[in-house]
Amino acid sequence: VSAPDLDARVRLRAFEFLEEQTRILGDVLPHRVLKEGFLFEGTRVHLVSRQGIFKPAILPEIPLTITTAPTLPGKPPPYHDFLGDDGFLRYRYRGNDANHRENVGLRLAMARKVPLIYFRGIVTGEYLARWPVFVVHSNPMALTFTIAVDDMRYLGDPSPPESDTAVQLRRAYHTRLTYERVHQRTFQRQVLLAYQERCAVCRLHQRRLLDAAHILPDTHPRGEPVVPNGLALCKLHHAAFDGNILGVRPDLKIDLKLHLLDDADGPMLEHGLKDFQGGILHVPRPASLRPDRGLLEERYALFRKAG
Ligand SMILES: [Zn+2]
Repeated sequence: VSAPDLDARVRLRAFEFLEEQTRILGDVLPHRVLKEGFLFEGTRVHLVSRQGIFKPAILPEIPLTITTAPTLPGKPPPYHDFLGDDGFLRYRYRGNDANHRENVGLRLAMARKVPLIYFRGIVTGEYLARWPVFVVHSNPMALTFTIAVDDMRYLGDPSPPESDTAVQLRRAYHTRLTYERVHQRTFQRQVLLAYQERCAVCRLHQRRLLDAAHILPDTHPRGEPVVPNGLALCKLHHAAFDGNILGVRPDLKIDLKLHLLDDADGPMLEHGLKDFQGGILHVPRPASLRPDRGLLEERYALFRKAG
């Protein structure tokens, strides 16, 4: 087998593996799944190591994955990980030596237009996976690469051939979606972990039935995607909260609009909603993770005003 052929086959198998995993687990994958990787003709191929730029031993020269560590709650994101003015991601070189093996490897990926995988840390031990991504620019002075996210459907030789502008626009679009997804997922996972994956109203502990609700919606100027503006709520209580049927007083007392729930309508209404009237919201112990009182006040005023 020639080297380029082996490289392409391992890469495609890696994409398939991630496709399978995200179908089962969603687009945020645990580190152990990436660490364990997959078997390729009897050889184990890991997808991550302790280094950000990673080339498994089976591949001849070009790295397979690039990883960014998660941002800790309340901390600014690492300076090297941001969206540039061109709408593409920036990724820092390994170390300060532009000619380090891993940096040379990524420049080779750029020259040969080889697709890579991007893992973006969401919270400790959990990564959003995106592929294919391409290195589209390298800046040795700033020690940064420019990374564009693309769509698997366009991998290979398109027929008819696409214009550079079309490729550029499509990649800018997918990169933007990825960036938004990272922020959305980070908020979700940070909130759910702060609440130990339980609904703040009913304590339901079913990850698939839980959401991270915004206290002030993200359309509001103060509706930031941060834990103090979040509540872990089950689907029912999230919908009731967003629909202003269930409100939370600034002292964390639960307030239900019982007049909207007048009908005697069986156990779900009785136990799922009415029973919580006057109860206290279960919130995280650390003060930094609790709902912000000012945000709750503002939201409670909206709840009162709503019909
Ligand atoms: Zn609930």
